[in-house]
Amino acid sequence: MALGKATAVVIGSFPLGESDRVVTFFSRERGKIRGVAKAARRMRSRFSGALELLTVGHLVFFDGGRSDLVQVDHFDVIHPFDRVRDDLERLGQAAWMAECVGRLTGDRDPNPAVYGLLLRGLKSLELGIAPRRVAVVFGLRCIEALGHRLRIDACVLCGRRRPADRGPVPVDVEGGGTVCAGCAAGADLLHLDAGSLATLRRLRGLSWEEATGSRLGRAGRELRELLERQVGGLIGQPTRTSRFVREIERFSPILGGEERQ
Ligand SMILES: [Zn+2]
Repeated sequence: MALGKATAVVIGSFPLGESDRVVTFFSRERGKIRGVAKAARRMRSRFSGALELLTVGHLVFFDGGRSDLVQVDHFDVIHPFDRVRDDLERLGQAAWMAECVGRLTGDRDPNPAVYGLLLRGLKSLELGIAPRRVAVVFGLRCIEALGHRLRIDACVLCGRRRPADRGPVPVDVEGGGTVCAGCAAGADLLHLDAGSLATLRRLRGLSWEEATGSRLGRAGRELRELLERQVGGLIGQPTRTSRFVREIERFSPILGGEERQ
């Protein structure tokens, strides 16, 4: 059995058998790693709370090489991000970010850029930046880092450059970008406000701090929906966390993303 080490974030877990837990980590060095944490659900587990969602730590594991699952030996907490877990709205958006990483990346396929983005996102949420805005900035960059950047300067079907527009713009999310009026005729497409597309373009040119520091207004909600649709299309179903996020927003309209500054 080979001994492995990595710096990793807990991005998911589920119970296994009587007392074990299967934990999904996203690590800087090795990408996604899934492992069994033996007896993690016992009262006196040696992991004692370290394996909570979003916790960052030093992971030590044994890799038998015969299964996709490694055996988790240690997980020493570097940063628990408990301030993110303690707030429902932050937790909802953070769980969505973790799900995006978990479902859009393959096992043991390192992507340091995506790891860095996830950590930045969690830090911004911890600092109290509007959760939906953090999720939008994270989602746009994560999707681009994984090679799924939407084309918004021209029609993805005929290649004609998109004129400066007002009002709603048809977007073929699965097709990869905006569509001209001629090609959109009769198709059931998402429509995005021209202002939201302008915001998307602007966000691409900003640093992380500038992007998370600028108000998105109405575009925030539209871009968040666009991202959910894009991620859902890539994984073949809606994300599990999207419903959770919608419920939270429905019950806390005053807290809803942009309103809380
Ligand atoms: Zn066209």
